[in-house]
Amino acid sequence: MDITTINHAMQLHANLLKTGPFHTQTPSLIKLLTFTALSHHGNIHYAHAILTSIPNSTSHLWNTIIRGYSISSEPKEALLLFCKMLNQGSPSPDNYTYPFLLKSCARLHAPEEGRQIHAVTFKTDLQSDPFVQNSLIYMYSNCKEPDASHKVFDKMDHRDVVSYTSMIAGYVDNRRSVKALDLYGKMEREGISPNEATLLALLGACASTGALSIGQKIHRIICRKNRGCEAKIFTALIDMYAKCGCIRCSKKLFNEMPRRDVFSWTAMIEGLASHGLCEEALLCFHSMKEEGSEPDQLTFTAILSACRNAGWVEQGRQIFESMLPEYGIKPEIQHYGCMVGLLARAGLLQEAEELIRNMPIKPDAILWRTLASACKTNGNISRAEFLIKQHLLEIEPKESGNYVLLSNIYASVGKWQEKAKVRKIMGNRGIGKPPGQSLIEVDGVIHEFVAGGSDHPEAQNIYRKLEEIGRKLRTEGYHPKVSEVLLDMDDEDKESALLHHSEKLAIAFGLISMRKGSEIRIVKNLRSCEDCHNAAKLISKIYQREIIMRDRVRFHHFKDGSCSCGDNW
Ligand code: ZN
Ligand code: ZN
Repeated sequence: MDITTINHAMQLHANLLKTGPFHTQTPSLIKLLTFTALSHHGNIHYAHAILTSIPNSTSHLWNTIIRGYSISSEPKEALLLFCKMLNQGSPSPDNYTYPFLLKSCARLHAPEEGRQIHAVTFKTDLQSDPFVQNSLIYMYSNCKEPDASHKVFDKMDHRDVVSYTSMIAGYVDNRRSVKALDLYGKMEREGISPNEATLLALLGACASTGALSIGQKIHRIICRKNRGCEAKIFTALIDMYAKCGCIRCSKKLFNEMPRRDVFSWTAMIEGLASHGLCEEALLCFHSMKEEGSEPDQLTFTAILSACRNAGWVEQGRQIFESMLPEYGIKPEIQHYGCMVGLLARAGLLQEAEELIRNMPIKPDAILWRTLASACKTNGNISRAEFLIKQHLLEIEPKESGNYVLLSNIYASVGKWQEKAKVRKIMGNRGIGKPPGQSLIEVDGVIHEFVAGGSDHPEAQNIYRKLEEIGRKLRTEGYHPKVSEVLLDMDDEDKESALLHHSEKLAIAFGLISMRKGSEIRIVKNLRSCEDCHNAAKLISKIYQREIIMRDRVRFHHFKDGSCSCGDNW
């Protein structure tokens, strides 16, 4: 007889107590514990109480309760129970115990406890059990320690698709997508075929690095495996193509989908918005509702960012104000972020500030930073300065972006002394600007560039190309925008620092290494500076090459001297 409710379980428990003896590990007892500990309709505390009442219970029963806690809302209890298991002369833990404990550590983001359990596996000689090792990889990755995961992974005698997938997904989650793709190359060489989870993680890696040709290869594998019909995979493909700059492919896939869910609609709207195709994003939003899909939080973020990118104040306000009354979705910080960006960019600084001051949740630094930069752009320098000092530096005293913004504000009005002070504070507090980094994929290999970097094997040719670019730009009437440079240098040095920004290095490499006429696709980790944006526009004209660059905020399609963003980003 199957147990389906907790009442049912309690009846069975009562029966067992009546008919006793209770200490024998009868199949009904195991069934009772399994249900109460693991089922959604069970009760883990009840299961725990039963375990306590059984003398000489087996490690299987202990593991069942530890496992129950590891998937419950109290994963910490799994660790406490394990301590009891060690102390009370209970059965020894086995290779099933550790994976559940490690899962608990992963959910608790508790790498220290995880490391202790890792140490215990050595004592019990289970450190080489593949089930334990896969759990260790997952635990360390989830605790943001991908290097520790990799150490475990490296020591494995037998790596299977689960180990590779944990490692690849861990790299993607920890923003090391280039490594994830490298590891996939190794997985292929070892002849291990990816499963659905691997493919999803890899599509995520391609999306974040802009690795289009690898993404296309994964797409072919998916078609071969006939997995295309699953909505999750479809959505990941739509997202990958959009983030790799190929919005046409996203649209095609989206139209081919047999059944669309809220996730695929949202991925499509988000893709269209990031490419500046805001009319289409809005149409998509309306069709979604017509087809009976209810938008969720993420859908609203996507559609509001479309409004922001397009500068549609009225449309944005309407959608934002409809969220709660029409859809029952309370606006979250990211929705406020889009609205503040929209209002601020339209020059409605007062309304943007009121929105921040009246919002029911505590505003975060991003909101204040958006407002402060808009004040700077609109020439309201004293307001920008006030907002940064009053709010931003308070919330995020260590964030370099705030100091950079403040320093740029001073530079833009020639307050060099003030600017120098900011630089000094940054130095004293050990705050550095995160290095700009650009990625470009050429023939299935991803190349990384950092500003002023010289460790690329083609570095000499790249810098030679940059000199040529610099000359050609000047004959086109380009003036470097030296105020974008933070460092205190003279103008000539500033010019060369600008010319060596990571996206310019990547573009130069693209020009020398890619087929004539092919599009140059670049992914940049930060927002592109105005100078690089201007230069990219001109390069697209001088060299007759389309350049598609994704920065932290959106896509820029540079063609024939202009950009799809309309210089609004
Ligand atoms: Zn730049
Ligand atoms: Zn642009």
